[in-house]
Amino acid sequence: MTLYTDEHRIFQQSIRKFAEKEILPHVDAWEEGSHFPSEIFPKLGAAGFLGILLDEQWGGVARDYSFASAWCEEFGRIPSVGFTTGVNMHALISAPALQRFGSPAAKEQFLGSACEGTAIGAYAFTEPGAGSDLTQVQTRAVRDGNDYVLNGSKIFITNGARADFVLTLAKTDPTAGYDGFTTFVIDTKNSGFAVARTLSKLGWHSSDTAELTFTDLRLSKEMVLGEVGKGWYQAMQSLEWERLMLTLAAVGGARACLEETVRYVNERKIFKQTIGSIEVNRTELARLASKLQAGEAFCHHCTRLLVEGRRARKEVSLAKRVVCQLAIELADYCLQLHGGYGYTTEFRPERWLRDLRLNTIGGGANEVMLKIAAGEVFR
Ligand SMILES: Cc1cc2nc3c(=O)[nH]c(=O)nc-3n(C[C@H](O)[C@H](O)[C@H](O)COP(=O)(O)OP(=O)(O)OC[C@H]3O[C@@H](n4cnc5c(N)ncnc54)[C@H](O)[C@@H]3O)c2cc1C
Repeated sequence: MTLYTDEHRIFQQSIRKFAEKEILPHVDAWEEGSHFPSEIFPKLGAAGFLGILLDEQWGGVARDYSFASAWCEEFGRIPSVGFTTGVNMHALISAPALQRFGSPAAKEQFLGSACEGTAIGAYAFTEPGAGSDLTQVQTRAVRDGNDYVLNGSKIFITNGARADFVLTLAKTDPTAGYDGFTTFVIDTKNSGFAVARTLSKLGWHSSDTAELTFTDLRLSKEMVLGEVGKGWYQAMQSLEWERLMLTLAAVGGARACLEETVRYVNERKIFKQTIGSIEVNRTELARLASKLQAGEAFCHHCTRLLVEGRRARKEVSLAKRVVCQLAIELADYCLQLHGGYGYTTEFRPERWLRDLRLNTIGGGANEVMLKIAAGEVFR
């Protein structure tokens, strides 16, 4: 049974139309100039695309994860994984977490403008000494009267250099294990907040990936996300959907790369025949296409579990591991079939390969995905 109805397909057509008009004519220049296109966010907001998971109260359309999945796959076809992930980290991860757990004051401050695209959100878990092992988070929040005072740093934060609000995982009680973490909503105008640097990267050139520092950053208790001591559990919930989001986007990207390659090999001739008519190439492309189809079905199974409000930790971890690895393999083979042209920036596979390479690391490395799955299998 397919996950997507006619309504989802119409939604995807509207995304494609928007992308053709507002994004695809500019995306190569953005990538070449390492430009983070903040200017596109209000246009996405006006089209209703930033409020897929947000309530009408904030200007959203309050759809479920099946529509968010349809978005991820279609939007993921845009050849700029850094840009599309930046939008998704804002609209599908940070803003919905704020909506779900935030205080009325924090929601009032940011959610309307998040939906309009005039404020951008980020979610900061990773630190210089805590990536795969988030229990090692050192950012510390200490209670001081009615406030909390934060000190510490985060690294690799998508949208970090442009964000207006950053959901930040910190330790409030180092002796309390998983109950010792709390998430805070940081207004980046706060004087204790600073962008230490943006990182130069292999791919994701249209995305700012930043190191952030917090120095005696004072926050009112209304900027606690949900309850004190619940940060770890909120993070694990957000990460589950974030991993699926990254994987669905990889499906979209791999499919776009495959389609572009099929067009190319059907045109270019070698030994008096097209590359695409040579049996070994046809068979290999068919093998990868069938694995991609299976990967998509696996993702849709995960989406259904989330729509039904069921646990999907094991399934999402396995899907991310298998499908994101496949996307890299597929982009690499597409580059191969382009020959020397594939190695140039004039054709897309090199960008897909550089961009999709991150997806087996970001949101949790492949080895961590297997560790989680093994833990669930032996539970
Ligand atoms: C472009 C980009 C954007 C990002 N965006 C964000 C963001 O918005 N917010 C955020 O909080 N973070 C973000 N990250 C951080 C990302 O989630 C981490 O890089 C990732 O979780 C890995 O952590 P680490 O880099 O510290 O690697 P480490 O934890 O040092 O791991 C290094 C390697 O060790 C291996 N390894 C890890 N665990 C195991 C294990 N259990 N068994 C065996 N081997 C293992 C893996 O090969 C792994 O790649 C981003 C990263 C990048 C590069």
